[in-house]
Amino acid sequence: MSQITNHMPTAELQALDSAYHMHPFTHADGLAKKGARVITRAKGVWLNDSEGNRIIDGMAGLWCVNIGYGREELAEVAARQIRELPYYNTFFQTTHVPVIALAAKLAELAPGDLNHVFFAGSGSEANDTNIRLVRTYWDVKGKPGKKIIISRKNAYHGSSVGSGSLGGMSGMHAQGGMPIPDIHHINQPNWWAEGGDLSPEDFGLARARELEEAILTLGEDRVAAFIAEPVQGAGGVIVAPDTYWPEIQRICDKYEILLIADEVICGFGRTGNWFGSQTLNIRPHIMTIAKGLSSGYQPIGGSILCDEVAEVIGSVEFNHGYTYSGHPVASAVALENLRILEEEKVIDHVRDVAAPHLQKKWASLTEHPMVGEAKMVGMMGSIALTPDKASRAKFASEPGTVGYICRERCFANNLIMRHVGDRMIISPPLVITPDEIDILIDRARVALDEGYAQVKAEGLWKAAS
Ligand SMILES: *Cc1c(COP(=O)(O)O)cnc(C)c1O
Repeated sequence: MSQITNHMPTAELQALDSAYHMHPFTHADGLAKKGARVITRAKGVWLNDSEGNRIIDGMAGLWCVNIGYGREELAEVAARQIRELPYYNTFFQTTHVPVIALAAKLAELAPGDLNHVFFAGSGSEANDTNIRLVRTYWDVKGKPGKKIIISRKNAYHGSSVGSGSLGGMSGMHAQGGMPIPDIHHINQPNWWAEGGDLSPEDFGLARARELEEAILTLGEDRVAAFIAEPVQGAGGVIVAPDTYWPEIQRICDKYEILLIADEVICGFGRTGNWFGSQTLNIRPHIMTIAKGLSSGYQPIGGSILCDEVAEVIGSVEFNHGYTYSGHPVASAVALENLRILEEEKVIDHVRDVAAPHLQKKWASLTEHPMVGEAKMVGMMGSIALTPDKASRAKFASEPGTVGYICRERCFANNLIMRHVGDRMIISPPLVITPDEIDILIDRARVALDEGYAQVKAEGLWKAAS
């Protein structure tokens, strides 16, 4: 098996893939019939597949390749670090230079007094850490009854048992005994799908006040924390109405519950600031980070704690950690990624060039007969597909049927753009140029036209009653 290469016939690679490799979030039998697309190399915002196609990556991998593919500097740093110190642990009163440097850099970049980093190998692991952190925090403070973490339906916080329980994905909860106890979900601020006759502003307030109602119903003495993504990513790039976050912040302050901002997608420039909390004016006690932290070049995540939480946790032995917490190679690569983001002023590029251009083009997609709202914060956006814009109607077909058709048309046009139900989402590398944005949008438009034609031809152009 060591002889498998990029140059093998695609069908052979696909056969081996379906025989031996199990894909995440995938119906294996369905994929086996079709064959997975084999990605062979990448540069900038462009992917190559084994059939010689050049694909524009509208998703930055899985929301993570913020600096784009193919940066030599990261390869060099990884090679150097592997030669010098490929691994050492941080459990037994030992440390090493890359993890020290990365933690110090993150403390400098993170807002306010978020100054203390507990590392993990991924976002899921970091959110598992957070569950234990916030409960331990209240234990140490003499309030062991405060165990419940409030989250939101359709949130995504990872796929481990703990983080998947924090998340609000019903399809995930249906498998394998989730959620774990003492996680409570309130409704999401998705105005397009759930706002009914309310204005977005009134709806945002109403959904935020569900947090207050939950705290009062469950009991202030039982609620430990609220966790949320500043902008829901995997749930379909759901941007809350402007009234939502100020009200959430007010409620967290009033009842003194810990606020965890899951910045796994929003962090590291995605929203036009270093962190989504800055864009949305949120003051979290803990931030979850991963993905853009290393631009996906190495698996690494973590939790950034404010001074007070770190001080409380620091007063006991916290019996938690991962073999790869603060892995030296991952830390060194993340640090180099942060250097590039900073020195090449990538976030200025987002704010001044890429995001304004993408937003203008993205908004123009609402001219398409099948596109309702178009939403975007920084460089993450979504469009709602609908058979009737005025009433914000859903399709009569199983949710996701039309979205899937459009995603397949994107693939066929060498554009990676995902669907979540009947919303299409993008989150391209932050370094994308205006010319590349034009190509992305041109392909999206062709894919939407083809999708629209197919939806009509298959009799799916019908509103749910
Ligand atoms: C992807 C994601 C996670 C999980 O990160 P993994 O590295 O896949 O474990 C957690 N939270 C959010 C908001 C995410 O988008």
